[in-house]
Amino acid sequence: MTNTDFLIIGGGPAGLMAALSASEFGLEPLIIDENQSIGGQLIKQTHMFFGSKAERAGTRGFEIGLELEQEIGKRNISIERQASAVGYYPDGTLAVQQNEKVTPLKPKAILVATGASENFVSFSGSDLPGVYGAGAVQTLMNVYGIKPGHSVLMVGSGNIGLIVSYQLMQAGVEVKAVIEGLPKIGGYLVHASKIARAGVPILTRHTILNAFGEEQVSGAVISKIDDKWQTIEGTQQTLEVDTICLAVGLSPLTELLWQAGCQMNYIPELGGQVAWHDDLMMTTAPGIFTAGDVSGIEEASTAMLEGELAGLGAVKFLRGGSKELQCRIDDTTCRLAGLRAGPFGQKAREGKCKLAECRR
Ligand SMILES: Cc1cc2nc3c(=O)[nH]c(=O)nc-3n(C[C@H](O)[C@H](O)[C@H](O)COP(=O)(O)OP(=O)(O)OC[C@H]3O[C@@H](n4cnc5c(N)ncnc54)[C@H](O)[C@@H]3O)c2cc1C
Repeated sequence: MTNTDFLIIGGGPAGLMAALSASEFGLEPLIIDENQSIGGQLIKQTHMFFGSKAERAGTRGFEIGLELEQEIGKRNISIERQASAVGYYPDGTLAVQQNEKVTPLKPKAILVATGASENFVSFSGSDLPGVYGAGAVQTLMNVYGIKPGHSVLMVGSGNIGLIVSYQLMQAGVEVKAVIEGLPKIGGYLVHASKIARAGVPILTRHTILNAFGEEQVSGAVISKIDDKWQTIEGTQQTLEVDTICLAVGLSPLTELLWQAGCQMNYIPELGGQVAWHDDLMMTTAPGIFTAGDVSGIEEASTAMLEGELAGLGAVKFLRGGSKELQCRIDDTTCRLAGLRAGPFGQKAREGKCKLAECRR
């Protein structure tokens, strides 16, 4: 593994776009990713993306990943696969583990683009085989071609719950119900309509009470809840399912940013603890950048633009500014603001404003 001035941790949409924008201005970044394939979440997303045409809306997620990988292949960008950043030390050394060997790297600039991890809810029986995170189910089906089971209860009606439900149905798995604790469906109506039209009930103000089964899940008990999240007696239902899929949100994967001593702030609109960053995605630790889901749970389209900005920020940090660089920064900033302008961007917009005000 060769040393580099600009190291990018995570080869998802944010990391890949950062590498492309930085290489446009002469940097030769190194991307490391713990997986065999690069693309991050994109590799398992078989549905067409929403958003703006300029950010590849209308293209399937995994195809966006392949397109970015091809563009990367034409540039002076190195990739190390199955390489995990396992620790950041106060002298600026990053430990990278690959094939059981740990290599110390000391880049001048680092982008942490590690994405997010799935949230979990615990209930009686939640440790039985057959209880999965929705992202894990998507990986099993769309990357490895394995069905998780025959009949599923989906917990959570955000976009991930709705999209994975639809993909389960496409794979021939029966989705018995999608349940949601909040009074309304969390994801886009277009995704909800597709599964509702196929006869899947989407039950708002419902929660899971317990899962049961001998060696693995054979059923689940669900119930209506009131506005204080208390179960309403007499509304319990038993569903015969062999799989329970949890789509209850994501949390930014921020361990490396904590280790680097970045100022962290709890911003619920962005999914939890995130690092404060400036307009070019630089944290309070000079030369340490953040972009994508790790800087706030949003979408691949915004992750790509944040990554692009972080790559340009690294150029400015390492090489100084120029008129051409500033034009490119202004253009990307404007496209990112455009993506967040509508009602679907409101939460992220508010979260980013709150974060900007937190600088100590
Ligand atoms: C079911 C589903 C449907 C979605 N649909 C859409 C959609 O229609 N449109 C849209 O715009 N977005 C969609 N998204 C969201 C989108 O996939 C994410 O917002 C986006 O992938 C975030 O990009 P990222 O680069 O920040 O992180 P990721 O894509 O998660 O990439 C991070 C990468 O970093 C690697 N990594 C983490 N830690 C380390 C480490 N320590 N060392 C080395 N590597 C590490 C990870 O393995 C991963 O490969 C969807 C997400 C899901 C789950």
